Amino acid sequence: MKTPAANRRALPAVDRVMQALGAIDLPRTVVVAAVREEIAVLRRSLAGSDAGPDDVAGTVAAERLAETLARVRDRLERLRRSRLQPVINGTGVLIHTNLGRAPLGPAVIEALTEAAGSYSNLEFDLVSGGRGGRAAWLEQNLALLFGAEAATIANNCAAALVLLLRHCTGGARKEVLISRGELIQIGGGFRIPDILETSGARLREVGTTNRTELADYERACSPQTGLILKVHRSNFFMGGFVASPDTAELAALARRRRVPLIEDLGSGAIRRTETMGLGEHEPTPAEVLRAGVELVCFSGDKLFGGPQAGIIAGRARRVRALKRDPLFRALRCDKLVLAAMQATVDLHLASEPADALPLHGMLQVSCAELQERAARLVAALSGLPLEVRIGRGKSRLGGGTMPRTSIDSVTLDLRPATGALDELAARLRAASPPVIGHLSAGALKLDLRTVFPHQDAALADAIRQALES
Ligand SMILES: *Cc1c(COP(=O)(O)O)cnc(C)c1O
Repeated sequence: MKTPAANRRALPAVDRVMQALGAIDLPRTVVVAAVREEIAVLRRSLAGSDAGPDDVAGTVAAERLAETLARVRDRLERLRRSRLQPVINGTGVLIHTNLGRAPLGPAVIEALTEAAGSYSNLEFDLVSGGRGGRAAWLEQNLALLFGAEAATIANNCAAALVLLLRHCTGGARKEVLISRGELIQIGGGFRIPDILETSGARLREVGTTNRTELADYERACSPQTGLILKVHRSNFFMGGFVASPDTAELAALARRRRVPLIEDLGSGAIRRTETMGLGEHEPTPAEVLRAGVELVCFSGDKLFGGPQAGIIAGRARRVRALKRDPLFRALRCDKLVLAAMQATVDLHLASEPADALPLHGMLQVSCAELQERAARLVAALSGLPLEVRIGRGKSRLGGGTMPRTSIDSVTLDLRPATGALDELAARLRAASPPVIGHLSAGALKLDLRTVFPHQDAALADAIRQALES
């Protein structure tokens, strides 16, 4: 017999909750852990209060079981949704950092699959039968692509930047000259001054926020200067009373003072962006190297259209030295990234048509084509308690790339017959696959430029699910 106090504190047993939950399509260990966690929460909430009701014919136990069940189901749903999974990107932001940046194309996916399921010559020389250089082909072709003496790759552009800074400030010259107008935050809380400090470098700010002249760099240059760093203002723009020396001028100064000039380009445009439907010109790695930069770094998964990586290109002597840094070993890419990057570089070298890289393909799609798809979707969605209209949109590159540039696009504008818009947005995020759009002008807008044509049927299905759930 339990005492009344024990009854008041009685907790549902794990087995009992598991049984009541029924079949759940998650690993049993995950479900049991969630059940234990929720029972523990209940225990803690009861611990303080022993003034709870006495258990009258099991009603308290039944209530506690029901409450625990509801909380476990909620917890499991959140867990399920946190699992990495494909989503439909209706935001119109092509390089969406929160949605995984650049999607990969068929040739790259095939290379990735082959590397994943088989042994490879990752560090094996097929000619001599001995140990081989990791990523030798990739490094050589990256260099060719940018007209650089040498190139290599690290985990991401942030890692590349740390390596570059350590390399140049590892000796007695600890100072990094950087314009006050370029002390930027890149996203994900990544700030240039912090990364400088992490690398053991000392920041020497030059000029003012809006204007930095060549003479400012000249004055700041001293025997302590380890490098001049130029950070491309990739994720914001400044207008009005602004000035900064161009790369060639700065390179000439760096040469005179015998310090390396390094540029962080961020987005890694390879083709001329103005011919890609992107109005503005984004500097390319080849261009800044020609202008006299010693080393350049940028992301692999922004405009370059490949997997996450930080690409470094420039002087062979410096690239070799970088690769000897023990940190390079810690920040190197794995074989899957190397395989995907190798295939991406091969596509760039072959000047394959734009649609070989999905990102570039998306940029080329005409509004007329998007309009046709939108019309088919409107027809497919007729009869639902929903107003569906074809709207106009502005797609953006995103990922901190060319913030001034937008591309005309076509949207599907959804307005539910009943219920709130953010409720519809939440239901679409809960659909399978989840659909992400944005709210604007009293509608949930889905930009079709970032939805792959092969996803149209799944998109219509997801919208139907959202309204029927
Ligand atoms: C995006 C960006 C980075 C960071 O690149 P990751 O590959 O995400 O590490 C660094 N510098 C600039 C200028 C960028 O735009």
